[in-house]
Amino acid sequence: MYYNKTKEELFEALRSSDKGLTNEEVKARLEKYGFNALEKEKGLNIPGMVLHQFTDPLIYILIIAAIITTILKDWVDTGVILAVVILNAIIGFIQEYKAENAIRALKTLTSPKAQVIRNGIVEEVDSETLVPGDIVLLASGTKVPADIRLFETIRLEIDEAALTGESLGVKKISEPVDKKETGPGEAKNKAFLGTLVLSGRGKGIVIATGQNTQLGKISHEVGIIKAAPTPLQIQLDNMSKKIGLAIVVISIISIALGVWIGESLYDMLLTGIALAVGAIPEGLPVVVTITLAIGVGKMAQRNAIIRKLPAVETLGSTTVIASDKTGTMTKNEMTVTKIFSGDRFYDVTGTGYVPIGEIVPEDGKTEDIKDNKALMMCLMAGLLANESMLELEESTGNYKHRGDPTEICLITSAMKGGLEEGKVLLDYTKLDEIPFESERLYMASLHKQEKKDENIAFIKGAPDRILKMCNRMMDQDGAHKDFNEEDIQEINSELGYRGLRILAMAFKTFPREVKDIEPKDLEEGAVFLGLQGMYDPPREEVYEAIKQAKRSGIRVIMVTGDHKVTAITIAKKLEIIDGEKYDAITGDQLEKMQDEELFDRLETVSVFSRVSPLHKLRIVQQLIKRGEVVAVTGDGVNDTPALKAAHIGVAMGKTGTDAAKETSEMIISDDNFASIFAAVKEGRVVFANIRKVTLFLLSSGMGQVILILLSLVLRLPLPLLPSQIIWTNLVTNGLQDVAMAFEPAEKGIEIEPPRKKNEPVISKLMIERLLVIGIVLAIGTLGVFLWQLNTGASIDKARTMAFTTLVLFQLFNVFNMRSETTSAFLMNPLNNKFLFFSVIASIIAQISVLYWEPLQFIFNTVPPDMNDWAMIIPVTLTVIFVVEIDKAIRNFLGKEKK
Ligand code: ADP
Ligand code: MG
Repeated sequence: MYYNKTKEELFEALRSSDKGLTNEEVKARLEKYGFNALEKEKGLNIPGMVLHQFTDPLIYILIIAAIITTILKDWVDTGVILAVVILNAIIGFIQEYKAENAIRALKTLTSPKAQVIRNGIVEEVDSETLVPGDIVLLASGTKVPADIRLFETIRLEIDEAALTGESLGVKKISEPVDKKETGPGEAKNKAFLGTLVLSGRGKGIVIATGQNTQLGKISHEVGIIKAAPTPLQIQLDNMSKKIGLAIVVISIISIALGVWIGESLYDMLLTGIALAVGAIPEGLPVVVTITLAIGVGKMAQRNAIIRKLPAVETLGSTTVIASDKTGTMTKNEMTVTKIFSGDRFYDVTGTGYVPIGEIVPEDGKTEDIKDNKALMMCLMAGLLANESMLELEESTGNYKHRGDPTEICLITSAMKGGLEEGKVLLDYTKLDEIPFESERLYMASLHKQEKKDENIAFIKGAPDRILKMCNRMMDQDGAHKDFNEEDIQEINSELGYRGLRILAMAFKTFPREVKDIEPKDLEEGAVFLGLQGMYDPPREEVYEAIKQAKRSGIRVIMVTGDHKVTAITIAKKLEIIDGEKYDAITGDQLEKMQDEELFDRLETVSVFSRVSPLHKLRIVQQLIKRGEVVAVTGDGVNDTPALKAAHIGVAMGKTGTDAAKETSEMIISDDNFASIFAAVKEGRVVFANIRKVTLFLLSSGMGQVILILLSLVLRLPLPLLPSQIIWTNLVTNGLQDVAMAFEPAEKGIEIEPPRKKNEPVISKLMIERLLVIGIVLAIGTLGVFLWQLNTGASIDKARTMAFTTLVLFQLFNVFNMRSETTSAFLMNPLNNKFLFFSVIASIIAQISVLYWEPLQFIFNTVPPDMNDWAMIIPVTLTVIFVVEIDKAIRNFLGKEKK
């Protein structure tokens, strides 16, 4: 269907028009055809998640324990064990639910958009709301948002590999065809959902949406992103499995040891099981997911949207950020401030995209600028070789703009010079266009001159490109004269030194018969019209971000399509390069360089100008070869190889194409360099918190393991009952581990050098501290236990004391874990309210176990009196002091070294 219809027939068949559909019509059609979405993602699988909580080997051990106690009619222990199983499941479920939800929330942040014409104006809408009859615009880098019959194309080429597997671009046309070929790869005048526009522009009408599209017919799965575990998660998962296994082995040895020294097999069996349950850090994998998810949430608040979870980890170890200049480091609010045309310089007054201002000769002479023919043509070229729009909105009296700031400001300058698109177009009917693509560096449009018997192409673009096409220039009287390319280049550099982005304008005439143009038609014979220099101020936040990045040991490299002089001026302003000592490379130089040379030059060069996307790829590749962890920005379809090659591909949220967004790890919704750096900082926090949680969970387990082994070796009675071990684990880890994921950034995290790429999660410091804490916990607890036994307390009383000592030890230890190096006393406990209150809750829970009768019965506790507390509290506080001393020594030695 639709293949052989003309534009008008299409409008009739689909009840649409050049102005597109109205909002009411869209609403009605949405009801009829449904949303333009492939099968909806399934909801959370709640029963599956509940079941998952019981499929842990640890739980199996507990269930076996429950069966043993049931057989032995030891009901209290059965009750405790079952309660633990259920509590564990509830906590596990809540954690997993939170993590799952957080990851899902990610996906909705990046819903695809489409450019449509509705109610007569161009707007951006969620692709989901497209309906048959909608008029859709396509440009290079767009993901085709529905099945579309094209009726306007300019050199449109589409990659249909997603449907056909054939990765060569398919050239598209807009005319009706009579062959009834409808499939992708064959239908020349259709574009299909899920395929990618490689280059050119197109306009068409939606003929099918959602399930009715070609893609919908073949597949129901596309677009569902699976949350695969990240490298760090896998590493930690493996690690906790190994630790688990080790603890099971230790438990078995303890059981054998206990039986050998005369404990009953039953008691030892329960103790061994309790030990395994208490010491295995089973919460770790889920807490890691939660930590990652929290990091992702915080990054999103700072305008960095993570598309792939592993990026969160990698971000923290970033060593180089290679960034675009225009729009990322600068505001992308262009204003033409200087014009050179007809051998004269002009100042342009006024700022922003409001055509209020004047063009005045720089030398202060007053004259009518319309007398400078070259200037008027120069403005006209900027106005007509232009894909953007600036329009007065009648209803509000405001100017509305759409498109590329570089182009919008040229419309503004033309209007300041008295030109207006609508009127100019009456004399210059548009025939054809060569759209701007970043490796071409210019655009051109062909017009029919009504007043002369020839057609004219207006060209605008990078001066170095344009000057090569020209052999003459226009002077003030409109005459063509010879010109010296070097003179113009010098003027170009002079404007560039002021940080201006410069575009050159030219024209070339063609005979009437020529109705379309190719880039090769413009290779020579054009007439130079002038230069327009536009100012694009750096973003304020970027100064600070670059300063901080440098202090963090992160190198910032500018990779821009702009001219060398402009790039260097801005790079100096932003202190990407400082002082006299700097080096910059242009795309031309890079082109001639071997990879080896580029590799060496990257040691010092921080500014790359006039680079094409392929150069960007080479830069990224060599940086990676140098061992850097590279984040790179990109927006165009041609940036995708570089984005893919880098560790962190960063796509621009506003100006980025679908293609760039799709291959990137992260999207910066405000296009701001500062947001990239903020995300890197946040990535460091995530990694630090994962370490804190890991150390915390392992040190509790370590304490218990050493305690039990020590008491067995010393042939002492068991200092803890199985139910007490399990309880300890529950009140001291259950909430605190999750709370640790909410730890705010430590002071100074941004001035540490980046973490090494393959640095393991568990560092030497962590292992040493793990041992220190484990020994303090074991000796302290055992000491209290022995002292009680020696002063004639009952075994139940002595155990109660040991039990409470261990719990308090671990609750205090939480505060040690908040920093590897900073004193716990220097950190406000209320900075992490969740953590603080979880500790309070645990203390209340422990007090209930000691003083509330039903719990006393279950846990065999004897309530301690004031004297007992007077012993427990000082003993347990030692864990803080010992770790404080450890921190102080390390800090002292650390300073010595420097
Ligand atoms: P960047 O974003 O790094 O400045 P671009 O690829 O956008 O790089 O632009 C590179 C050069 O191409 C610019 O310096 C300018 O000379 C030229 N250029 C940019 N946009 C346009 C446009 N819309 N039309 C014609 N030339 C352009
Ligand atoms: Mg650009």
